[in-house]
Amino acid sequence: MPHRRTTFSKYIIEDQPRRVAHGSDLTALLNDIQTACKYIAAAVSRGALEPSRTAQPVMVNVQGEEQKPLDVLSNDIMIGACEWGGQLCGMVSEELEDPYRIPDRFQRGRYMLVFDPLDGSSNIDINMTVGSIFSVLCAPEGVTEPKPEDFLQKGTAQVAAGYALYGPASMIVVTLGHGVQGFTLDRDIGAFTLTHPNMTIPAATSEFAINASNERFWEPPVRRYVEECVLGKSGPRGRDFNTRWIASMVAEVHRILLRGGLYMYPRDTKDPSKAGRLRLLYEANPMAMIVENAGGLCSTGRERMLDIQPTDIHQRVPVILGSREEVERLEQYHREAELTPVMAFSTPLFNARSLFRTS
Ligand code: MN
Ligand code: MN
Repeated sequence: MPHRRTTFSKYIIEDQPRRVAHGSDLTALLNDIQTACKYIAAAVSRGALEPSRTAQPVMVNVQGEEQKPLDVLSNDIMIGACEWGGQLCGMVSEELEDPYRIPDRFQRGRYMLVFDPLDGSSNIDINMTVGSIFSVLCAPEGVTEPKPEDFLQKGTAQVAAGYALYGPASMIVVTLGHGVQGFTLDRDIGAFTLTHPNMTIPAATSEFAINASNERFWEPPVRRYVEECVLGKSGPRGRDFNTRWIASMVAEVHRILLRGGLYMYPRDTKDPSKAGRLRLLYEANPMAMIVENAGGLCSTGRERMLDIQPTDIHQRVPVILGSREEVERLEQYHREAELTPVMAFSTPLFNARSLFRTS
């Protein structure tokens, strides 16, 4: 009975009684977000048939990164789909330096939307997977026009988080704080349909993803972890590992939700002014909420992602996320590196006869 399936719309309505502090306003907001994701999915899927959308970048965004026409279009779509309904009092986007002000012609609500309209957009030119990431926060009491500091809330304060993935099939994966649900876009009826209920990340894995071209900039704990994985059966881990790298955070997290794994964009010494590459508010925190709700972990290596007190709306952080056992191992390596002098990591002996042998 296909017509009895749970669509995204049905799910957020049925789930409403579980969210006592958040009534129909949150439902309406989530509905607008899924509409935005449908528009973006449609735009992305046109590919090279819309040369104007895949043209070479002409602009640079607030992060100093190339802004592609589809980045700009996706940002406009997200704003246009979500600003009108009276649920929001402000938005923060990767593509905008300052918070977006809800125009006066619309009602204002208690929620704030934070998003990366198009993640992995360098994949656009080669027709590879991209996505959108979103997070819903509550405005501080009495605030109707949030300033940047009103968005500086810990990840634990998120009301909902999710991402849309535009791959061979488009999907929305969402958490409202109790489990993670995955919906596949059924283009025949134009509805995201529940296909992946209660997604969980296996605790153990033999797959890791990291941009290995940055190896020379890695800190000792990350260097150690990767070296041990690469040594495989002959190293302290005693088993072989595989690597993966899609260059889109949404795609990496999605793979990990489906079959486990570890994804890292750790702190490195390439540009000491940047603590990491990914953005806390609209990349790391929403993914951390999803990953934790699926039984995984998300950390900087030094602390739990969701416990970080943000200091800037576009703040960057190191990210280590995925299967619980591997994230815990990396956290342990970070702790040990702080206690032990660096010398321990630079001797060949260290790899062969690790002090931290687990078997
Ligand atoms: Mn991104
Ligand atoms: Mn982006």
